[in-house]
Amino acid sequence: VKRLYVDEHRCEGSQLCVASCPEVFGFGQDGLAYVKDQHLASSIKGEDLENLMTLCPTDAIRQEDVP
Ligand code: SF4
Repeated sequence: VKRLYVDEHRCEGSQLCVASCPEVFGFGQDGLAYVKDQHLASSIKGEDLENLMTLCPTDAIRQEDVP
């Protein structure tokens, strides 16, 4: 299983992800984006997922394996 997340060390707070996909991404008071709907995020696959991850200019939208 993979989990989508925003790498806090890479996110520069441009909010591009929030603007293009507000159902999946939220924007925190710390000035960083986060994945607010993990369930929805996990339903995005293939090319859509690729597009989602590459829209971030600093490559902060990432995936990790969860056991
Ligand atoms: S697009 Fe990338 S840098 Fe911009 S808010 Fe989203 S995760 Fe952060």
